[in-house]
Amino acid sequence: MTKLIILGMDGLEYDLVTKFGYKNLMQDHFGKTDISEFELPRSVILWSSFIAGKSKEKELTALTNFWHAKMPIAQTFFANAKNPLALDVPGFTYINEQHDRERQNMKDFLEGKNITIEEYDKHVFAHHQKIKEQFFKALETGEHDVIMAYFSVSDVIGHLSFGITPKMRMIYQDLDEIAAKVKAKFRGKLLIISDHGMFARGRFGDHTTYGFWSTNFDVQFKNPKLTDFFKTLIDAQLE
Ligand SMILES: [Zn+2]
Repeated sequence: MTKLIILGMDGLEYDLVTKFGYKNLMQDHFGKTDISEFELPRSVILWSSFIAGKSKEKELTALTNFWHAKMPIAQTFFANAKNPLALDVPGFTYINEQHDRERQNMKDFLEGKNITIEEYDKHVFAHHQKIKEQFFKALETGEHDVIMAYFSVSDVIGHLSFGITPKMRMIYQDLDEIAAKVKAKFRGKLLIISDHGMFARGRFGDHTTYGFWSTNFDVQFKNPKLTDFFKTLIDAQLE
């Protein structure tokens, strides 16, 4: 039986979730996370630190390509799970081929090479659909005690379109529907977490220095650090 689900939503912005009023994303308890322990809000480093329960910034920035770094399970909150599933989790089961291409596409677009925003988006949405399907299929089986699914769409689309509110609303609505569907099917503990938020620079988007969290269960903290969730997630598996 699945006891614990973590929905990792990259770049999910507190101010947009609350402005749009997406209740399934906000759940019963929600707030901003504190990521001031990190020098820079870099996605893979933040997610790696989240699953390890401590900052991996020094260790990872020393590598030539931290995007591809993969942590052994023993260093993560999945260590004690019987049959965990981690879908596309950065620093652990991150799908390099997909995300390398996204970064290359962004670079090409910003350098004025031959790629449109529509082509860029299409590649991102196709991956989003795939992860969504895999996640709900896994949830249906009930085989995994812990599931973490990572959705990069809000960040990757946000980088080229955060200033276009209707487009971001559509993406946040899709993420809210994922949360709604989980709530309808699942009676365990649900954490929704982002690594950082985003703010608009014209039509583009950049990372803020705080993230978003929400739970359907009581938590002790008001303004948690991203690395504070580790113990809560271990405890949730023991109950
Ligand atoms: Zn990110």
